[in-house]
Amino acid sequence: MNRRQFLSVLAAAPLVAAASKPNIVLIVGDDLGYADLGSYGGKEIPTPHLDSIARNGVRFTDGYVSCPYCSPTRAGLMTGRYQTHFGHEFNPGPAEQAVENFGLPLTETAMPKRLKDLGYKTGMFGKWHLGYKPAYHPQQRGFDEYFGFLGGAHSYIDAEADPANPIFRGTAKVPRVDYTTDQFAAEAAGFIERNKAKPFFVYLPFNAVHAPLQALQKYEDRFAGKIADPRRKTFAAMLSAMDDGVGLILKTLEKHKLTGNTLLVFHSDNGGPTAGNTSKNDPLRGFKAQVYEGGIRVPFLMQWPGRIPKGTVYGNPVIALDLLPTFVAAAAGAPAVDWNLDGVNLLPFLSGKDKGVPHSQLYWRFGQQWAMRDGDWKLLSMGGAPALYHLKTDIGETRDLSHTESARTEKMGAAWEDWNKRNLPALWTPRQNPAQKKKKKRRPA
Ligand code: CA
Repeated sequence: MNRRQFLSVLAAAPLVAAASKPNIVLIVGDDLGYADLGSYGGKEIPTPHLDSIARNGVRFTDGYVSCPYCSPTRAGLMTGRYQTHFGHEFNPGPAEQAVENFGLPLTETAMPKRLKDLGYKTGMFGKWHLGYKPAYHPQQRGFDEYFGFLGGAHSYIDAEADPANPIFRGTAKVPRVDYTTDQFAAEAAGFIERNKAKPFFVYLPFNAVHAPLQALQKYEDRFAGKIADPRRKTFAAMLSAMDDGVGLILKTLEKHKLTGNTLLVFHSDNGGPTAGNTSKNDPLRGFKAQVYEGGIRVPFLMQWPGRIPKGTVYGNPVIALDLLPTFVAAAAGAPAVDWNLDGVNLLPFLSGKDKGVPHSQLYWRFGQQWAMRDGDWKLLSMGGAPALYHLKTDIGETRDLSHTESARTEKMGAAWEDWNKRNLPALWTPRQNPAQKKKKKRRPA
């Protein structure tokens, strides 16, 4: 073959075969509200690195998670399936009270295993919240490396603050930790450095900005004289630290010229618990633990230079369940029918190849609460009769139209009932702490 022939063969080779598999980086914030980032209208707390993802890729206006609460939402994220389809409906309560079988059910296959099967080196750095027992450990679910904690929350500064919920490197307890936000990001960056030559999957679920409100002085100092309320100031410092952590990941990718070949996503695991950590969900109604938009619609950003047009604002509803099929597709894999996925590959929608919508309907169930989105409409029950909202004209869910739109209300309610038939009873319920239980028992019947 002469040089000219060789070049023409090169030119004819399909792009996907010529390019190596992309790296995949999934960064998750904890309890971050819809309005907390600059790219979502936040004005008080600069988040330049997170906002750069929106500039270099896509910002989803209607990005959802599958539950307004930490553990179930992660079960959906890790499987691409509505977690209520396999009974993972609730948090387990504190570590020392978690039931024996608490964890991502062993019948389910997690995202890192799917990507490992496609040739990826997989690392996780941060909050798991999908099981404490050895069989549920991240390294039993597909992660090659793990640094973080297994519970739902952790001190940012004291590795041994909760004996039932230590910090682990692999399966070894770690006695000291830097500010967790800094360390989780640094550990993830180190993993990227060590694995830059092969396709890697990084899962970086920060505990920021979940309670407790704890920040280092250097981050607090950024808001000296700017934010008066001390809790809000600490929250700002925590978010600013997380933004730095995201910046470290972006810089590490850039340093090794990996940015173009890396699909990177950031989203929050549920809406902000506004009273708990001063987060903001404006203009949405409600907060963490509610199926109002404020509990389930979250900041949601994605970049993959060259594959997703820069500065895209995508308005059709998407859900974190879509990330597993999106990543598998990016990795040139194909989900089997028996994976029973509820999420869809978003890439054709983002490139403009598919002009349709990823989802005609989305569903939620969380105890007595449930909701369904159908196009611009949302039907929602907080336990009683459902209310109907037209989100396009009423994003704040203020005008219940269920009585004037009774046919639609009935139809959507029936669709939700159909979906609900595929849900299993909850495998566990949130446990009360023993002190509360005792108090209850003392009350006269
Ligand atoms: Ca959370």
